[in-house]
Order: sequence, then structure tokens, then C-alpha cells
Amino acid sequence: MADAASITSSKSTAPPVVSCQKVTRQYTRGSDSVFSRQSQPTVTALDSVSVDIHPGEFVGIAGPSGSGKSTLLHLLAGLDTPTTGQITLSGTDTTGLSEQRRAQLRLDHVGIVFQHFYLLPSISARANVALPLVEHGVGKRTRRKQATALLEQVGLADRIGHKPGELSGGEQQRVAIARALVTDPDVVIADEPTGELDTATGEQIIAVLSESADDRAVIVASHDEQVLEQTDRVIRLRDGQVVHDG
Ligand code: ADP
Ligand code: MG
Repeated sequence: MADAASITSSKSTAPPVVSCQKVTRQYTRGSDSVFSRQSQPTVTALDSVSVDIHPGEFVGIAGPSGSGKSTLLHLLAGLDTPTTGQITLSGTDTTGLSEQRRAQLRLDHVGIVFQHFYLLPSISARANVALPLVEHGVGKRTRRKQATALLEQVGLADRIGHKPGELSGGEQQRVAIARALVTDPDVVIADEPTGELDTATGEQIIAVLSESADDRAVIVASHDEQVLEQTDRVIRLRDGQVVHDG
């Protein structure tokens, strides 16, 4: 008996898919650095950041170079751990989790897209997209079927057998997005996904990511205001702190 109003409210009150509470991340400079004695021994890349992201949200992370965007995304993706504070991913508090448990959590719940695509050059687009399913123990026939469906979804039905080197930059990034989506993750995290692409191609990539934020969260870091205009919500960082969220 769900009417439109209750659907809307259930979406906004759904538990966050990723949450960080008072998260600080400091990097320690190498102790062998010739500068380490006279300069500060640590860099505070994130300073007490609290953010909740819900299913269905398409969120932009903004801020100048060095403001902490990549650090925040790596933490939200479970690729890194905070110095202090708490990160919850798909309902699991990641504090104190072993590297192995964090890797499993990522595999089960997170899709990641990078600026430089990171596709394997020697195998086809379809084989690249199917790779995460190998780790999930999915059989070959199902892997091929699901990878094909995802490549169709991102508009690459006619590029399935091509190797990355035979594809344009925009096409390679769409393969990377299909690979991130193939495990049906709760959250997709993309760090400067249009950084290598021209404006028109970048817009297509953002459109593909936006469409994928149907029932999952999609988080995109970018310093491109045109990209950020496409998102539902922008979290703006400066010197590791949230200066705007909305
Ligand atoms: P952005 O993605 O917004 O450009 P980053 O998260 O990469 O910002 O960096 C935030 C700050 O942390 C910067 O001052 C950067 O130099 C520093 N930083 C990032 N990664 C490391 C690292 N591995 N070791 C030391 N400092 C780092
Ligand atoms: Mg960055």
C-alpha cells in the first residue's frame, strides 16, 4: 500500500549506504625525508568530515586540487582507513576490520571507476566487465551474459569483442563503468571519471553514471563545475573540511 508520498519519505529515511562520522585522515611524511625534521610530520588531508549518502543519490564531491576529494572517496570505498572517526559501508562499521574483510565488503557492495580506466589491455571489453564476477564465483555462461547486458546498457553493444586499445577514451570509460556495475553494487564511486575526456564525451559519461543511480548511490569527485551541475547534491571540500553540502 505504498503511495507516492510514502515512497518518497521511505527513500529519504532509508539508512545511508555510506556514512562517515568525524573522519580525519592524516598522512605521515616519510621518516627518511630530508624535510621531515624542519617541516610538519603530518598532512591533514581530511579534517573531521561527517557525511551520510543514501540509496538513489547522485552526489558530486567538489573542491580544488589537494582539498581531499580522492582521500574521501578512497575512505568511502573502503580502500583506505581513517586516522580517527567511523565509516559505515552498507550497514557494516568498518572500524577495526581486517584488510581481507574490507576487501570482501568492497567486492560485495562497491563499484569503483578511476580517471585512468585501468582496463586490462589484452582481453576484450566483455572479459574486462566480467572480471569482478570471477571473484564472485559466477559461472562462465552467466558472466558472459551479464557482461554483455551491462555493455548494452552503457551503449557499447557493438564493441563487446574489442580490446581496450581499439576503443576511444569515452568508450573505455564506459567499459570501466560497466565493470563497476556488473556486481550490482550498493554504491558506485568515481574519481575524476571525465578527467581524460573532452567535454561532450565527459557529458555522456556523467549521463551514464546518473542513470545508474536509480536504486544505488553514485558519488563522483570532480573539479569540473559542468559535471557538478548534473548531480543532485554537491559536497564541497576545502583544505580537508566540508564547506558546503546541498
Ligand atoms: P584531491 O583529490 O582533492 O586533489 P587528495 O585527497 O589527493 O586531494 O589530497 C589531499 C591532501 O593530502 C593533499 O595535501 C595531498 O598532498 C595529501 N596527500 C594525498 N595522498 C597522500 C599520501 N599518500 N601521502 C602524503 N600526502 C598525501
Ligand atoms: Mg584527486
